[in-house]
Amino acid sequence: MNLKLYNSLSSKKENFRPLSNKRVKTYGCGPTVYNDPHIGNFRTFVFYDLLNRVLKMNGYNTVTAVNITDIDDKIIDRVNQENSSLKEITSKYELSFKEISHSLKILPNNHNPRATEYVDEMIEFIQTLIEKNFAYEIDGNVFFDIESYPKYGKFVNIDDELQVEDNELSKKNVNDFTLWKAKKDSDGNIFWNSQWGKGRPGWHTECAVMIKTLFKGQLDIHCGGIDLKFPHHENESAQIEAIQGHNLSNYWLHAEHLNMDDEKMSKSLGNFVDVNSLIKKHGSSVVRLFLLSAHYRTKVSFSYKKLDECKKMIEKIERFAQNFDLHDIENIELKFSSQHHSFINSLNDDLNTAEAIGVFFSFLSEINKKIANNSLNDSDKEKTLIFLKLFNSIFDIIDFDNLESKETPVEVQDLVNSRQEARKNLDWKMSDILRDKIESLGWHVEDTADGQKLIQKK
Ligand SMILES: [Zn+2]
Repeated sequence: MNLKLYNSLSSKKENFRPLSNKRVKTYGCGPTVYNDPHIGNFRTFVFYDLLNRVLKMNGYNTVTAVNITDIDDKIIDRVNQENSSLKEITSKYELSFKEISHSLKILPNNHNPRATEYVDEMIEFIQTLIEKNFAYEIDGNVFFDIESYPKYGKFVNIDDELQVEDNELSKKNVNDFTLWKAKKDSDGNIFWNSQWGKGRPGWHTECAVMIKTLFKGQLDIHCGGIDLKFPHHENESAQIEAIQGHNLSNYWLHAEHLNMDDEKMSKSLGNFVDVNSLIKKHGSSVVRLFLLSAHYRTKVSFSYKKLDECKKMIEKIERFAQNFDLHDIENIELKFSSQHHSFINSLNDDLNTAEAIGVFFSFLSEINKKIANNSLNDSDKEKTLIFLKLFNSIFDIIDFDNLESKETPVEVQDLVNSRQEARKNLDWKMSDILRDKIESLGWHVEDTADGQKLIQKK
């Protein structure tokens, strides 16, 4: 099946067709770096990574950008609260974003542009909008004039009641949005000089100009969280499309929220779960699998029970993988059979990870049955290694090298031997006591047709 993606422009799944043959350009709105990100933010960032990996699986070369928003009201508030500097705050949280991304196996992006590095281009861009009569200046603020751009409203009906920003500033139309914000007293020394006076660019202009500069204003896929669809993506695309006369992106993909008790998880609501402590406590693979386990367009509620289920799934895959010689798994050539194709088809059906995981686990059960009745042949073994590699090329939650290098400590092996003896004597009580002891030393023991199998707990 060819790759199909749900495009927010048409509200339909569409066959994906890139602008150029094998090269795909994507942009995702990145973090505003003013405090530690929560797990909900990372649902979006892991979704970008999923898209990137599925594009690669389909043979595309990707050029990806996820920006760093390092100019924003929230950052300035934080600088004031902490009596710190813009650079100090933003560097700290940009580093934190990158460290967590690395830990969650998010592939590095080709570009992580910072808004502060494009301010000259932003000023030039806003000036062009004014000259072309798409923007106007009042009291040092510059606004986009939505009446001047009849295509405004690709994501919403603008006759509906829309969310209004910066309404305290005088502007012609309530829905006109800010391109340049005049300096306020509370901005302190955070400002740039422009022909309209001291101030700074607005968020929507930041993304638009970074895309214009890095990708000449033309993307294959633009993605973001669903809450960015309006007004951010509407405004981001309106200003750039008004200037260039063609669209900014052919596909717009939006990921749903991660909820906490049926409410969107957010810093402002104070109901967020800190991603760093989750990773420390549960391991990055468990957190990554949790974020990928539901389809990206479904609302998901955070729960520790779900994290626990993901942990068990990983342990199950690891126990399964230990039945095979994983020495050269990275060098295996990916030749696909029908079961592999079902997995690929699920991912190509608008990145349906939930279904793909289901396909993978039914394959595991099938092979486990063959292991149990000793009917596993060489072709099954080869198919399994290919599937493990294919699965990990997307989900990336199994460390094959580490699986092999784990040596059983003598203490644990002695307990396993005693348990073997107890089981031979049908002493089930002793067998259970020994299992508990093994568990308390951090190992899980499973009874299989081939005897006891050990796996180190996460
Ligand atoms: Zn953006």
